[in-house]
This record gives sequence, structure tokens and C-alpha cells, in this order.
Amino acid sequence: MERVGRSPVVVVGGGIVGSAIAVHLADRGIPLVLVDQDWPGHAASPLSFASISAFGKDPLAYYELACGGMASWARWDRRLGGVGYRRTGEVRWMSDPQEGRDLAERVTRARQWGYPVVPVDEAGLERLLPAAVPGPVSFAAHAVSDAQVEPDQVLAACHAALRAAGGRMLTSGSTTLACGSRSGAKCCGPRQRCSPPGRCRSRWPGLSVWTCR
Ligand SMILES: Cc1cc2nc3c(=O)[nH]c(=O)nc-3n(C[C@H](O)[C@H](O)[C@H](O)COP(=O)(O)OP(=O)(O)OC[C@H]3O[C@@H](n4cnc5c(N)ncnc54)[C@H](O)[C@@H]3O)c2cc1C
Repeated sequence: MERVGRSPVVVVGGGIVGSAIAVHLADRGIPLVLVDQDWPGHAASPLSFASISAFGKDPLAYYELACGGMASWARWDRRLGGVGYRRTGEVRWMSDPQEGRDLAERVTRARQWGYPVVPVDEAGLERLLPAAVPGPVSFAAHAVSDAQVEPDQVLAACHAALRAAGGRMLTSGSTTLACGSRSGAKCCGPRQRCSPPGRCRSRWPGLSVWTCR
């Protein structure tokens, strides 16, 4: 990656995607600021079932990307010091006959692409999920390499790693990127005067974004 001086990179969004990008950049010694309009971890990421799977991902390029993502999680779990990563496999089943046929088709296609997923019969289902009461089952499958993490732990660990690497986080309302005239104030620079007169302050210390207050 080409570096432009020592200006920090701003990563917008402190969910799992932005936080992971920020840690990867910080690990490469790139100064950065992670900004979030709210408190990171309030949006989609903490709601996720956090299943790590490439099953059913289509077309092929998306499937391959998902496989690459799956392969990186063990290393990522170690980097973050443990985020509940476990490769327990995932069982899917359908009751409705048509949905069962659809699932069977997806399993066949996934197996053609080399994905480790196998059909399971009723006895197999009971063995895999002894406590489950699945009701009528038209088709079931076990994706043996699918995994799981704890999204809250991933977010907390990313943010801790980021701080430890010297990255900064600006969150909860202090971080609206609004450089322009707002309530009559104009953007200024450290050596410019405010118009109308006011105090020129760096909104984000360390960043070249200044506003009149
Ligand atoms: C119910 C549910 C189940 C799911 N299950 C799975 C699953 O099993 N497996 C799986 O892989 N995925 C699953 N997902 C999807 C997964 O949760 C998302 O793909 C992932 O969390 C997206 O992460 P993100 O960081 O892009 O977004 P988010 O977690 O939504 O974070 C985005 C952040 O950006 C901030 N932001 C947005 N706009 C701005 C702005 N203009 N300025 C500053 N900050 C801004 C927001 O405040 C937020 O904190 C599920 C999702 C849901 C809802």
C-alpha cells in the first residue's frame, strides 16, 4: 500500500468490517482514526448469528471469497487473543418438502464445488443434535467445517487491539464529518481566520480537519 506522508487514514464505521480493517492497517504501522457516528457495536454486527460459512454462497467468485474468509478466522482468532472461534460444523434442515428439495440442490452444488457438506438422515441428525426436537424433516445436511465466533468479543478485541497499536477511536456524536457551512460557520485552517469570527479548533486532534466554533 502506498503511504502518503504520515497523514492518518480515517476508517468510517466501527462495526466488525471497519474494526477489522482498522486493526489490519494498525498492524502495518499505518496511523489511523476509527470513527463511528454512534457507539461501535450498536448496529448489525452484534446482532449477527456469526456463522462462518461459505455454504450456499453463489456465484463461484462469492463462494471463493467466503472460503478465503473462513480460512483466515483461525489466524484472526489468535491475533485477537481469542474471540470464541470454534469449528463445530453447522446443521441445516427443512420441514417443508419443497424447501427440502431446494436445500438438497444447494448441497449438491456445494459438493460439486468441493465444499465439505454431507446429507444426514434422521439418525444422523439425532446424533449431531441430541437435544433438538426438529419436527418433521424433509432434508438435512451437515456442513462439517462451518464455524462460529462471538461478535461482541470480536468487536471488543478489535477495539482493544486498535488502542494497543496506537490507533484512535472517535465515537458517539463527536464524529460527524461535516466540513462546510453549518449554522453560518465555515471550514477554516490552522492559519486562517474564522468567518464569522469564532474559535478555530481542530475537531479531531491529529487530523487536518478544522472548524469554526
Ligand atoms: C440478524 C442477523 C444475523 C446475521 N447473521 C450472520 C451470520 O450468521 N454470518 C455472517 O457472516 N453475517 C451475518 N449477518 C451479517 C453481519 O452481521 C454483517 O454483514 C456485518 O455485521 C456487517 O458489519 P459492518 O461493520 O459492515 O456493519 P455494522 O456492524 O452495521 O457497522 C457499521 C457501523 O458504521 C457506522 N456508520 C454508518 N454510517 C456512518 C457514518 N456516515 N459516519 C460514521 N459512522 C457510520 C454505524 O454506526 C455502525 O457502527 C447477520 C446480520 C443480522 C442482522
